[in-house]
Amino acid sequence: MEDNSRPEENEKKKDGMTLRVCGIEPESIVDGPGFRYVLFVQGCPHHCHGCHNPESWDPKAGFDMTTGEVFAEIMENPYLRGVTFSGGEPFEQVPALLELAKMCREAGLSLMSYSGYTLDELEARHDPDTDELLGMLDVLVDGRYDEKLRNLTLIYCGSENQRVIDMRKTRKARTEGDHGIVIPYKSSFDVDIEI
Ligand code: SF4
Repeated sequence: MEDNSRPEENEKKKDGMTLRVCGIEPESIVDGPGFRYVLFVQGCPHHCHGCHNPESWDPKAGFDMTTGEVFAEIMENPYLRGVTFSGGEPFEQVPALLELAKMCREAGLSLMSYSGYTLDELEARHDPDTDELLGMLDVLVDGRYDEKLRNLTLIYCGSENQRVIDMRKTRKARTEGDHGIVIPYKSSFDVDIEI
């Protein structure tokens, strides 16, 4: 069938969905296990007191990138082991992040995400895209930042209410019958990632 769309529309399609972005850290060793690309999305509804990144709250601030553009940037670095979605609130941009997550997974990269929502809150959405994105994560750091529970010795999170969840082990345990179980992520040497 003849394609009557304009060339720039085809280019847009190739580039994928649009993400609202707050910033990028192309090489990080502190936002998850191994050497990672970190995408900070723009927009957060939680407004936690003492948030380290309040400029990420306004969903209209920041800048646009397509999933294809982000992925192309990730692919430029052969040393990356994984990608981390941070924010802002990644789970306010689920469809585009799901698209990006699929690209990254196909490329053999591990996936980690932060969320101010708890895993239970995300599961209670009963949203297929949210469930699919959760099903692709190796690690989820969940829960809002609580300044009263601030603890500087924690790895990958800032307050004691937040959980660093080993999503692979959690999914496995749940399919084996431990419904509702949440298995904490132990150390950066603990995540065995199948590539
Ligand atoms: S969830 Fe994270 S980005 Fe959002 S307000 Fe809380 S600490 Fe800040």
